[in-house]
Amino acid sequence: MTNIPTRSDLVLIPNASTPADRSIEKRRIRKHFLLNVIRENSPVSRAEISKLSGYNAPSVSSLVDELVEDNLVWEETARTTARGRRPVPVQINGRAASVVGIDLGWSSTVGVLLDLEGNVISTFEADTSKFKGAKANVRWLREVIAELVYASDGPVPPICGIGISIPGLVPRRNPETPIILKSPTGEIRELLSNEYNIPVIIDNDSRMMAIGSLWFGEGRNHKNFGVLNLGYGLGFGMVMNGKPVRGARGFAGEIGHIPFGDAHAKCGCGRMGCIQTVASGEGLERMAREGGLDVTDVKDLFDLGRKKNKQALEIIDKFSDSLARAISTIFNLYDPAALIISGRVARSADMYLDDVISRVRKYTLPSIIDPSRISISQMDVRLGPMGAAASILHRIYYSSHVEVDKVI
Ligand SMILES: [Zn+2]
Repeated sequence: MTNIPTRSDLVLIPNASTPADRSIEKRRIRKHFLLNVIRENSPVSRAEISKLSGYNAPSVSSLVDELVEDNLVWEETARTTARGRRPVPVQINGRAASVVGIDLGWSSTVGVLLDLEGNVISTFEADTSKFKGAKANVRWLREVIAELVYASDGPVPPICGIGISIPGLVPRRNPETPIILKSPTGEIRELLSNEYNIPVIIDNDSRMMAIGSLWFGEGRNHKNFGVLNLGYGLGFGMVMNGKPVRGARGFAGEIGHIPFGDAHAKCGCGRMGCIQTVASGEGLERMAREGGLDVTDVKDLFDLGRKKNKQALEIIDKFSDSLARAISTIFNLYDPAALIISGRVARSADMYLDDVISRVRKYTLPSIIDPSRISISQMDVRLGPMGAAASILHRIYYSSHVEVDKVI
């Protein structure tokens, strides 16, 4: 067992089966709704909370009393001045708990520990330990969590939930999806959740990036936007009407596998000709290898391009064209207010972005495309883990939001 402090009462998982359970659950959902009103308006008086929430004064009073008792909010002591009693401001206690977010990539792992207000307490980044099977994954995740706690300055607020972002298909928890029974993500969730006795949410990395952007990044200003995850593979996370899009079974956004790639190249998924065979880190490495270029990774290839190496520039040109086709497909399908490009390959955007944008103009209906909507995320590799942590925050503050609740 672990000696890391945790608290298990904050992340709501609606699973009431009896009427009595349902009424307890309803009260918790109302309480957390108020907690979010306080978070968004802190400091705020009880009267204002009533106005903002639409709950009557006695309800607000008893629910806020409970939040004070739970140590989730603070309230100033009442003061009486010459003009009478002043309203007492209530504010959120961000340090009442913390949330973990970990992006478990093929090659690297990035973790963050956030407080309840979303402030970063500590971060961790390392090469991903080579693992096989759920148990080995969980051992590594446990190490990452210990490192995050160790790296924090001062006492760590008890951890109330763990969000994990992983590449590949993550089935949503849905009775119509029996695949969940065999899913290794289900096993990881079970093992971690049992070990720490707190909820664990696992979701696809591109979707976690979109959630991260919605909470902390460029997506904050939009209700409809997408994040293009340009790393070793090519993924896509979409937010529509303020909610992450999952699809019927949780597999939405696999843009890397649309069949517009190199017909003779084998994709990581086992099929031929996916666009990811060209428009991704995997694609760039493959083309460099086949061209006999002496590079160990994508960064080397772009460095060669900066030195005007003809072959490297040809590869980058082919990559840019495919990437533009993928982006054009997204614009034609979704008309996003913003398309944010993130992932490790986005770090070398100076070598291809202008070119990609001019090709996107060519491939997209003129009235749909507005190149100013395409940008590179400023959050770099933190977007995924911040999104994973935000998926926990989301469940604390928007517990009646069923979309996230259905995630495994
Ligand atoms: Zn594929």
